[in-house]
Amino acid sequence: MMRTPRYSNCVKEALTNIRTARESWSPGLEPVEEGVVTTVLNGIAKISGLPGVGFEELVRFQGELYGIAFNVDPEEVGIVLLGDYARLKTGDRAWRTGRVTDVPVGKNLIGRVIDPLGNALDDRGPIEPSGRLPIERPAPAIMDRAPVSTPLQTGIKVIDAIIPVGRGQRELILGDRQTGKTSIAISAILNQRDKEVLCIYCAIGQKAASVAKVVAELRSRGALEHTIVVVTEGNDPSGLQYIAPYAATTIAEFFMEQGRDVLIVYDDLTNHARAYRELSLLLKRPPGREAFPGDIFYLHSRLLERATHLDPSLGGGSLTALPIVETEAQNLSAYIPTNLISITDGQIYLSPTLFELGILPAVDIGRSVSRVGGKAQLKAYRAATGSLKLSYAQFEELENFARFGTRLDESSRKTLDHGNRIRAWFKQDEYDVFSMSEQIIMLIALTEGCFATIETGRVHDAMQAVRSAAKGISSDISGRVASDSELSSEDREELIRIAKEALNPFLKSS
Ligand code: ATP
Ligand code: MG
Repeated sequence: MMRTPRYSNCVKEALTNIRTARESWSPGLEPVEEGVVTTVLNGIAKISGLPGVGFEELVRFQGELYGIAFNVDPEEVGIVLLGDYARLKTGDRAWRTGRVTDVPVGKNLIGRVIDPLGNALDDRGPIEPSGRLPIERPAPAIMDRAPVSTPLQTGIKVIDAIIPVGRGQRELILGDRQTGKTSIAISAILNQRDKEVLCIYCAIGQKAASVAKVVAELRSRGALEHTIVVVTEGNDPSGLQYIAPYAATTIAEFFMEQGRDVLIVYDDLTNHARAYRELSLLLKRPPGREAFPGDIFYLHSRLLERATHLDPSLGGGSLTALPIVETEAQNLSAYIPTNLISITDGQIYLSPTLFELGILPAVDIGRSVSRVGGKAQLKAYRAATGSLKLSYAQFEELENFARFGTRLDESSRKTLDHGNRIRAWFKQDEYDVFSMSEQIIMLIALTEGCFATIETGRVHDAMQAVRSAAKGISSDISGRVASDSELSSEDREELIRIAKEALNPFLKSS
């Protein structure tokens, strides 16, 4: 029998084809299943024909639109859409991607304004990332964490002195609308200018004008160079608003895992909870208290648990979170605020009453607390602030009493007088951050009673004079303050001397 050479050529060719196909095949990224859109409404799509899709898997639609699989039923899958869904219609096709939602990370993001998917929103062109990481990542385990030990100076006197925040802490900023919440967070970012702390500002469901104001403020004050701004606006799809804080946290974690200190601001989680509620109701999940779904607590706890101070064996980086939440009519016991109060390590409460009285920043000291920051506070502060909080609490109590026009004895008048000076000391203009030396010299001057003899009308100017005199503090003393050493009595005397010298003109003319 003759063997036909033609036949063996065919076999060879087939084998080569199989080999090439096998080598060029890449697992995972290929669409493995195809489904059809059955319903589209308000940022949600329902799909039939994707039985193998996993929870939170990324699903691709025609026209490079993506969504996250939320409700995974055998017959129908509920998808949260992450982009402009106006063009999506019933009958369109959808594919599984085999991966979860991820976000670009890397150094090149610093100084940029991006959306939660990593697309540039500024005019500086596309971003070249170092890699991509999933937006939902497990929080560091207990054994991977170290205690909060280093302060995160916010540059706001009342916070650094009374409600200190430590690196790796989660401190909630809460208050009614227009009470200065954003302003406090932005000041904290501005104060990180020369401190090697990288900042991330995550705007969730905000007005475009508010975001533009924040970005302009950061840029004009030279703080955008150490900041990444992640933006979703009020008219963005709820899905995008929902993923924004997780994506921003992943970007932050990338730097934290390299041993860096990172500060993240979520502005605000009320909008985040509302976006999630909208999605859940559209997906027909059962509503609970205030119509929020049952897993609303988990929504924020799994986010804020990611803020931590890593163990030195893991690089010792930290992620400090300043979540913001809006209250309605000062109701701190509403569902979302109480949830967040219980998840965080303290809160800064901003009072509309103080705001109206012009006592700015409107921090209500009685209702604010920092549960771990005190341990991280610098020793020089700690020595001076102990008496301050008590004197101020006494003052506030007496102030209420004195409103009734009661005649006061000498000691009560003194308490009131001292309290008023402490209040003047707490006042601070927007974005006008104070350095460590400025705060310390002013704090020591206050607690030593240097302002006691200055008439009330001139206290503000006198404090400014002491602030300017901080330039005269020797680098030895400021070094000791910064390195968390206790100030010796000579150091204190030197600081008091500088402060008194600056106060001389005020004493003479009074
Ligand atoms: P919203 O609820 O709209 O987000 P908010 O609570 O974030 O408001 P901000 O936008 O920070 O409040 O501030 C409200 C207004 O108060 C702004 O006009 C801001 O300029 C002003 N403001 C905030 N802090 C101070 C301050 N320390 N001194 C003077 N003005 C301030
Ligand atoms: Mg705000």
